[in-house]
Amino acid sequence: MTQVLRARAELGSDLAALPRPVGLVPTMGWLHDGHRSLIRRARADNPTVVVSIFVNPRQFNRADDFTKYPRNEARDVAICADEGVDLVWAPTVDDIYVPGFDTTVSVGAIAEPLEGQARPGHFEGVATVVAILFGLVGAEHAYFGQKDAQQVMVIRRMARDLALPTEVIACPTVREPDGLALSSRNVHLSPAERAAAPVLHRALEAAADRWRAGERSADELRRVMRSVLAGKPLAEVDYVSVADALSLAELARLDGPTLLSLAVRFGPTRLIDNELLGGAG
Ligand code: AMP
Repeated sequence: MTQVLRARAELGSDLAALPRPVGLVPTMGWLHDGHRSLIRRARADNPTVVVSIFVNPRQFNRADDFTKYPRNEARDVAICADEGVDLVWAPTVDDIYVPGFDTTVSVGAIAEPLEGQARPGHFEGVATVVAILFGLVGAEHAYFGQKDAQQVMVIRRMARDLALPTEVIACPTVREPDGLALSSRNVHLSPAERAAAPVLHRALEAAADRWRAGERSADELRRVMRSVLAGKPLAEVDYVSVADALSLAELARLDGPTLLSLAVRFGPTRLIDNELLGGAG
C-alpha cells in the first residue's frame, strides 16, 4: 500500500515503522518513465522507497516557469502505487520552508557554469531543498537522473561537504524512441517543436561520433553540435559545452572524461541534454 503524506510531522513516525535502508527519489511530479527508472533502481536497492513530490519555488528563476510547471498529483500517486512505492511525500511550500526560514545552501565552482550561469539562483534553490529533503527523510540512498548531470554533481558536492549521510546515486537518462530525453517540460512543446526536439540528442551523438573517430579538439566538437542544431530553425541555442567531466571547466582539447552538454529553447520551453565521453565523471 502506498501512503501519501503531506505534513512533515507525520513523516518521521511513518518512516520509523518501515525497514531500512530507505531509498529516496526526489521529484517535482508529472512523473514519466525517467522517474519510473529512478524508482525501480531505488526499489531494487532498498526495502523502503520514498518518492517526494514538490515543485520547489526557490529553484525557478522565472515566475512563469514555476506557475506553468505541469502538476497532477493523483496521476503521480497512481504511478507510484504501480511501482510499489511505500511512501509518497507531497509537502506544501509551508511544510518545507518553516516560518522565518532564512538559510541558503550555496555550492561553489561546480554550480557556476552552464545551468548555474543560465539560471541564476537555480542551484541554490536545488541544493537548499535537497538538503531539507535529506534532513527530513534521512534516507541511506537518494536517486537522481544523469539527464541533469550538473545537478547530480552539485548535490554530490553538497552532501559530501556537509557530511550528509545520504549517498547520491546517478541513474542513466531515459529517452523517447527518437532520442528525446524524457522531461516534464516536453508537454509544453507544440507538435512542430516536438518534431524538432530530438535534434538535441542528434547533436550530442554527432559530436560523440567525431570523438569516437579520434577528434580531440573541443572547438570542433562544439562546431559539430552547433551545425546540427542549426538544421532546426525552431531550436534556439542557449549554450553548447565541451567540459571536463569533473570540474566542468570548458576544454580546449579532450584528454580525459568529458561532458558534452547543451541547452536549447523551443519558444518558451527550454530543454537540456548531455552525454558523457570517456567514462564516469
Ligand atoms: P524532476 O521531476 O524533473 O525534478 O526530476 C526528478 C528526477 O528525475 C531528477 O533527478 C531528474 O534528473 C530525473 N529525471 C528527469 N528526467 C529524466 C530522464 N529522462 N531520465 C532519467 N532521469 C530523469
